[in-house]
Amino acid sequence: MKNQNMFDLLLPLSPEQLNNLKQLKSTCTNIQNACLSGDFWKIANQTSNAKSLKKNELNDNDQIISIISAAQTGNVKSLSERLHEYFNKNNRKNRLLNAIDYKFHNIKDEKILILIILTQGKSEIPEEALSLYNFIMSRNSPNLNNLYYSIFVLRDISCNLFCQEGKNFSKRFKELGSNSLLNRCDSDIECENNYNKCSRNLLKNINNKEMILQPSFSYLKKAAKSILSTSYYTKKNPATAVVLTNQKITGRNSIKDVHHIEIDISNLNINYVPGDAIGIWYKNNTNLIKNILELLSIKTFDKIKIKNNIITIFDALQNNFELTTNTKNIVKNYANFTKNTILKNIASHDADLQQYIIHTPLIKMITDYPSKLSSEQLISLLCPLTPRLYSISSSQAAIHDEVHITVGVVQKLISGCSYSGGASGYLAQSLKSNSIIKIFIETNNNFRLPINQNIPIIMIGSGTGIAPFRSFMQQRDNDNSKGKNWIFFGNPNFTEDFLYQTEWQQYIKKGLITNMHLAWSQDQEHKVYIQDRIRENGKEIWSWIEEGAQIYVCGNAYKMAKDVEKALLDIISENNKLNIENSYEFLKNLRLNKRYQRNVY
Ligand SMILES: Cc1cc2nc3c(=O)[nH]c(=O)nc-3n(C[C@H](O)[C@H](O)[C@H](O)COP(=O)(O)OP(=O)(O)OC[C@H]3O[C@@H](n4cnc5c(N)ncnc54)[C@H](O)[C@@H]3O)c2cc1C
Repeated sequence: MKNQNMFDLLLPLSPEQLNNLKQLKSTCTNIQNACLSGDFWKIANQTSNAKSLKKNELNDNDQIISIISAAQTGNVKSLSERLHEYFNKNNRKNRLLNAIDYKFHNIKDEKILILIILTQGKSEIPEEALSLYNFIMSRNSPNLNNLYYSIFVLRDISCNLFCQEGKNFSKRFKELGSNSLLNRCDSDIECENNYNKCSRNLLKNINNKEMILQPSFSYLKKAAKSILSTSYYTKKNPATAVVLTNQKITGRNSIKDVHHIEIDISNLNINYVPGDAIGIWYKNNTNLIKNILELLSIKTFDKIKIKNNIITIFDALQNNFELTTNTKNIVKNYANFTKNTILKNIASHDADLQQYIIHTPLIKMITDYPSKLSSEQLISLLCPLTPRLYSISSSQAAIHDEVHITVGVVQKLISGCSYSGGASGYLAQSLKSNSIIKIFIETNNNFRLPINQNIPIIMIGSGTGIAPFRSFMQQRDNDNSKGKNWIFFGNPNFTEDFLYQTEWQQYIKKGLITNMHLAWSQDQEHKVYIQDRIRENGKEIWSWIEEGAQIYVCGNAYKMAKDVEKALLDIISENNKLNIENSYEFLKNLRLNKRYQRNVY
């Protein structure tokens, strides 16, 4: 004890342990000592993590509710998070899961399951919920007699069939014997009131069912929490960033207008990884606002109350409401306000109304049928403005204080007039260097590079779908990853639309990109698309799949993603000698094992 120094005394070790440690230290170099200290630190951390996880494990006696969030877009995610918080505040134990991480085979053990889902396009199931949907719809789906369920369906503006997939889910849950906790809540993006009502009723009904529900969640004890990640800046609390560059990257004669935008995030403490997107709060176009106000005989400086603030109608239209999307409700209410018989007639036939909103932007409707409205009436027609998401096209490891995006302007030509999308028009046309922009990071754990850097990857993207692959390649270049990289890219025209051409060429020269196949649909008489290139390379794609490659698809959900999937199914069927049903199973398994990831919109 006499020779013991102060530090030894502070160590919580027995004399024997101390002796062993000293002996070990005397034989180690400085580097070995440093490594050992790191290793001990890791062991200590693992133990404390394990302890804290234990604390979070759900007890058999707890009443458990599973909230499944099924969409890549912010609205569904934020509603799911709000419901999770709401139940927490009301002492209802619940867990929040991303649909893609949900172990759906365990659904038979659930007691209360709340599904929050977005339907989009021609009523499409979002990527995250596909596996769950297929499982529930399959012949192997289990009996769900013990399940109480509730479904909240949000409808994307572009969706033709109102919440059809939500209806299919409900119908199937009933067929499998489960009980509805609450009538399905269907909503379009104007969902605030619906959400508030549904969440209150849900809580009330769950409280009423307490005696019936006997928990039996042994499997949950094993399950680590799969809570959706959050960051400091959120949709509701966005960061204010500065635009560094806004450059058009399609040629002068291109039919597309695509911009590369760089945003400064230094000092903002924003972190992102390849696969994430940024959410952008955009401003509506000044001329569009002036036109609308003039057509409705409303003065620009009329005052209006928005969330307890008095602001001008001009400011309200610029920052708070959607002006570029038309909905059935808008047409119906505008027809009532204006008493316009043509509009009333359209509004009374659902199929006509659906076609009308697809082909008639709000400003065109008002131009065709102008009328006198008050500011309050106008505001009551409109949907609240929602931010848009853009895939990040840079890697923070390589670019550090910037985030890059690749924006294609949505343009519609109707009766000789061109109409731009709200956010894409703003980003491409209004933002200059030094402009201020409100952003937040939207994490996407369903679109990630493999952790093992030796795994080959196949990236398939058309148009702006190439964006996340620029981020992937920057990351793999930065990490010196050894895995092979194959890009399939499609766009209309080689000379006009080869996005980031020189960067890909550098990567090919370096040997980072091992294969690249391009499809220029309009460069020859017959159209060539990305799926044609995939088919042409079927044998090699199959050998990459056999090697363990991960496949990524990004871009247009309604055409490209479907055609590409069909091509992949054909390749699997041909090379693995499987019929189409089994090929589908094979692809489903790739998806389940995160070897087939899509980010389509
Ligand atoms: C996860 C995710 C990642 C995304 N990444 C990118 C990206 O990297 N680059 C990019 O450019 N976009 C990306 N998008 C799409 C982007 O979020 C916007 O949807 C797009 O820019 C259109 O928004 P807008 O406000 O300009 O058009 P809006 O004002 O919303 O739409 C105006 C009109 O055009 C219609 N419309 C909207 N989109 C289309 C379309 N694609 N084709 C035809 N009509 C349409 C609308 O129905 C409406 O009638 C992504 C979307 C998601 C969900």
